[in-house]
Amino acid sequence: MPEIAVLAGDYIGPEIMTAALKIFEAAQKVTQTTYTIKAYPFGGAAIDQTGSPLPEATLQGAKAADAVLLAAIGGPKWDQATERPEAGLLKLRKALNLFANIRPTKIPANLADASPLKREIAENTDFVIARELTSGIYFGQRYLKSEEAADTMFYSKTEIKRLLVTAFEMAQNRKKHVTVVDKANVLASSKLWRQVAQVVAMDYPEVTLDFEYVDAASMKIITQPTQFDVIATSNLFGDILSDEAASITGSIGTIASESKGVSGPNLYEPIHGSAPDIAGQGIANPISMINSVTMMLINTFQDTKTAGVIQQALDQTIAQGILTPDFGGTATTAVMTAAIINSIEKAA
Ligand code: ATP
Ligand code: MG
Repeated sequence: MPEIAVLAGDYIGPEIMTAALKIFEAAQKVTQTTYTIKAYPFGGAAIDQTGSPLPEATLQGAKAADAVLLAAIGGPKWDQATERPEAGLLKLRKALNLFANIRPTKIPANLADASPLKREIAENTDFVIARELTSGIYFGQRYLKSEEAADTMFYSKTEIKRLLVTAFEMAQNRKKHVTVVDKANVLASSKLWRQVAQVVAMDYPEVTLDFEYVDAASMKIITQPTQFDVIATSNLFGDILSDEAASITGSIGTIASESKGVSGPNLYEPIHGSAPDIAGQGIANPISMINSVTMMLINTFQDTKTAGVIQQALDQTIAQGILTPDFGGTATTAVMTAAIINSIEKAA
């Protein structure tokens, strides 16, 4: 039986995780599938229970699972902790060998008005950013003196290749278009990215490959986002472009992401934080967590059936205007969850 390690985390983390798991359970009944859910303490909640943000049992449980589902961790309660919740997340990412972060940018059906883009552009925006996670300037050498400073940006061919293979594989199942975003007019590492991309592309004759400088790409994400399918890029550029891409959807409360492990489980999580400002009020938007579940079902378990049941019910609920306050609605998390489950049961 497929096993999922669930890390609910802190503040709104457990609120949206509970909602998403209830919906997932209802969908499993419809498709007659069974997933084993194992919950582990993680982040601030784990500090409170065990003194460590990543207890050994959590680490082993995550490593042994087929997928890891994470809500959000951290917040002001642990600002003074000796080991902060975020340190646990860094350790977990390292232990799982997560090398690529996949972030879809798609404006949910019926929510195009929340986007700052023109409606017809918003409705047709559907691209994915594949960001390299293990290397680049974030892991370079640091040099800081009072009069000068430097950070090195290193990339090996192996690191570039595995990210690009992931990007081409995704493109193959999407709109068959990869855009490598770089700064190859000045950076040596970008030149290597281009060379490796040309070679990887030969294995994917149906996929179109093009290159875009990061400055131009950052404009196009706003002006012509419908031109993109899969954007493949380095750690630094991916970090920046991912947040830019999130902003054109109009709500941080809907977007999920996948971090791919080299050999072990992938990790699925909303892109937002633990939102301490709204925690405990029962008004957190569960969509990002629900989308994390469907992304996991499709990408790790190839269970498009169960994902489809959830997706359809979510779309219907949104279409009925049952939305949390971040989308101008009046529904609580619980009301929205109940409406989605109701729609799942009716469709069955
Ligand atoms: P972090 O440093 O962990 O990213 P943050 O404070 O920078 O945290 P978030 O926790 O993502 O950012 O919250 C940013 C804003 O978005 C907050 O006002 C928060 O309430 C809101 N927000 C985030 N997620 C949701 C959600 N699921 N539903 C409703 N509002 C949300
Ligand atoms: Mg933040």
